[in-house]
Amino acid sequence: MAASFIDKARIFCRAGKGGNGAVAFHREKYVSAGGPDGGDGGNGGNIVLVVDDNMSTLMDFRYKRKYVADNGMDGQGARKFGKQGKDLTIRVPRGTVVRDAESNEIIKDMSDSEPFILCRGGKGGWGNAHFATPTRQAPRFAKSGLEGEEHDVVLELKLLADVGLIGFPNVGKSTLLSVVSKARPKIANYHFTTLYPNLGVVYVDEGVSFVMADIPGIIEGAAEGAGLGHDFLRHIDRCRLLVHVVDVSGSEGRDPVEDFDAINAELSQYSPDLATRPQIVVANKTDIMEDESLLEKLRAHVEPLGYPLFALSAASHTGTRELVLKIAEKLSTLPPVTVYEPEYVPKPVKIDASEPLKITIEDNTYIIEGKWLERLMSNINFGDYESRMFFDKMLRENGVFQQLEDLGIKDGDIVSMYELEFEYQH
Ligand code: GDP
Ligand code: MG
Repeated sequence: MAASFIDKARIFCRAGKGGNGAVAFHREKYVSAGGPDGGDGGNGGNIVLVVDDNMSTLMDFRYKRKYVADNGMDGQGARKFGKQGKDLTIRVPRGTVVRDAESNEIIKDMSDSEPFILCRGGKGGWGNAHFATPTRQAPRFAKSGLEGEEHDVVLELKLLADVGLIGFPNVGKSTLLSVVSKARPKIANYHFTTLYPNLGVVYVDEGVSFVMADIPGIIEGAAEGAGLGHDFLRHIDRCRLLVHVVDVSGSEGRDPVEDFDAINAELSQYSPDLATRPQIVVANKTDIMEDESLLEKLRAHVEPLGYPLFALSAASHTGTRELVLKIAEKLSTLPPVTVYEPEYVPKPVKIDASEPLKITIEDNTYIIEGKWLERLMSNINFGDYESRMFFDKMLRENGVFQQLEDLGIKDGDIVSMYELEFEYQH
C-alpha cells in the first residue's frame, strides 16, 4: 500500500549571487575629471529555514525541489549600492532533520524556533569608489559579486513528541489521542486510517503538559518493507516514552499477547535502541470486552517484563485520566527529547584550476578573477592562520604567483582578488 504521506525529501538550494561593483566617475558641469563613485553590489539573498508549526509533513517538497534565492543588484554611479537579494525562506515542520545529501551527515535539526541559514548569499563586489587611494585616483575597475552557496540536502521529518503511540491499526490510538488532547485525528473503523502523524498537547495540570504523537499504524512485517514500512518508525525515534496500545476486546479475533510481541519485534528490527525505550501498555476497548481472560493473559505477559499496564476504554473515556497522570509521572523521570547535534563540516572544496584566470593590470594593481579562485576564496576563513596558509599554498601550487611574475609584477604592487587586496612581496 502506497502511503501518500511524505516525510523525506531531497531538495537543491542555492543562495543568490552578489551584485557586481560599479565603475563610475562623478560628473558635474565645469568639473573636468570627477572622482570615482561606483557603488558596491548588493549581497545575494540567503536560503533560510524556519519551523512552521502548522506543517506536519514534507508534502510541499514533493513537487518543488529547487530553491533559489534572489541575486544582489549591481552597484551604480553616485555611490549607489546595489539592492540586497531577498532571502528565500523555506518553511519546514518542527523536527525536520536536514542532512547533507552526499554524506548523509546532519547539518541541522530544526527543532527550535531559531531561523537557520542553510546557504549564504554571495557578497556583493566593491565598486571603484572603494579603490581610490592617493596614488590611484581614478581606478577603472570594480569587483564582481561572489557566487552564493549551494547545497543538495535531504529533509527528514522526525517528530518532536514526548510520547509516541504504537500498536496495530484499529486498536484505538487515534481515539486515545483525541480523548486526552485537542488533536482531532481521523478515526475510523478500518485499518490504515492514519496516514499523517498527528500531534496533540496533553494538559495534565497547571504548568504540566506533554506532546503525544499518533503515527501511522505499524503492521507486522513492516520492518521487512510490508505495508507502510518501517519508515514511519522514524517518527518515534525521539519519543521519550512509548504508549503501546493493544485491543483486548477480542472483537476482531486478535490475540493481545501475540499483537504485543509482534509490534515489539518490529521495533527491535528497526532499532534496538527503540526496542528498549520505556513503554506503558494500554489494554483498550475494555467496554466491549467479552472475556476478561485476554486482558489477564496480557497482564501476566507484560508485567513480569517490567511494563506497567493500564486497562481502559478510550472511546468511553474510562481510565484515561489515570493513564495521563502515569505518563506525566514517568516523563518527569526521563531525559528530555533528543535534539541531534550537527555532524556536517563543509568539505575542503575540490578546486579544478584548469580554467585560466583573468588578470587585468591597472595602475600597478593586478586584478585577478576566475571561477575557481572565487570558489576557493568563498571557502577560506581569512581570520584563521591555517586557512591563510592553505590559500597561499593553493595560489603557489596553481602557478598564480608565477603568472604575476611573468607579467612583471614588482614588490609593492597591489594584488587584488575579490574581497582581498594585498601588497605583493616576492
Ligand atoms: P487506530 O487505528 O489505532 O488509530 O484506531 P482508531 O482510534 O481509529 O479506532 C478504530 C476503531 O476502534 C474506531 O471505530 C473507534 O471508534 C474504535 N475504538 C477506539 N477505542 C475504542 C474503545 O475504547 N472502545 C470501543 N468499543 N471502540 C473503540
Ligand atoms: Mg489511527
